Amino acid sequence: TSFGFRNVDNGEKQPLVDAVFHRVAERYDLMNDLMSGGLHRVWKNAMVAALNPPKRPGWAALDVAGGTGDVAFRIVEASDSNAAVTVLDINGSMLGVGRERARKRGLEGRIDFVEANAEELPFPDESFDAYTIAFGIRNVPRIDRALEEANRVLKVGGRFMCLEFSEVEMPFLDKAYETWSFKAIPPIGKAVTGEAEPYAYLVESIRKFPDQKNFADMIRRAGFERVTWRNYSGGIAALHSGWKL
Ligand code: SAM
Repeated sequence: TSFGFRNVDNGEKQPLVDAVFHRVAERYDLMNDLMSGGLHRVWKNAMVAALNPPKRPGWAALDVAGGTGDVAFRIVEASDSNAAVTVLDINGSMLGVGRERARKRGLEGRIDFVEANAEELPFPDESFDAYTIAFGIRNVPRIDRALEEANRVLKVGGRFMCLEFSEVEMPFLDKAYETWSFKAIPPIGKAVTGEAEPYAYLVESIRKFPDQKNFADMIRRAGFERVTWRNYSGGIAALHSGWKL
């Protein structure tokens, strides 16, 4: 089967992205471990450690493109179950897997699951203390709109944090990573989910995503201040942070 990813322009890619995640939802968590060699766990732990959610009731976080709940579970745990976390994703299949995982962990009461688009968040202005998005913004067709929405729904003093694949800034790692991405990831995807092309798309979407500095500029343009980033694993992933002040 072909998803027809080649030559799609940004505005048209959402249905194709949705088809990929509907197809892989049940095996998404396994794929993440295989493709990153488990590193995505280390990066997500570091993200939530940097966010450092307070251990007091009333603090609310929105995890956009939250998929199967990985970041949300970590936030709830880091807050000693005080944080109220909303997982938002455009894909009902991914949310279904997340809901089931939350039930198994006894976290249903702390996490809401909302099916919606990052470009049009169904929340009033100034609703959340933190906005997180991990490996999600790259899939959103109009990134500038998603960033403006992030800014709108955050309270003044709220924190924006984005974890995303970025530009590798170590010369040798660079080559190894490229080989891994193009030679290994699509076949692993095919072996586990039966499809190689969606994974070829994912690798390509990483290459097209702006580098650390350019993405920081986009975050600033959406109205955030004190924008910084830190690299993980030599820049394979980067964590961007900003504040609504
Ligand atoms: N945050 C999770 C994690 O790190 O494991 C999931 C990341 S997964 C690579 C990307 C997610 O982005 C998918 O669940 C997909 O459905 C979601 N997504 C894609 N486009 C979206 C949009 N426009 N609005 C909200 N979510 C979107």
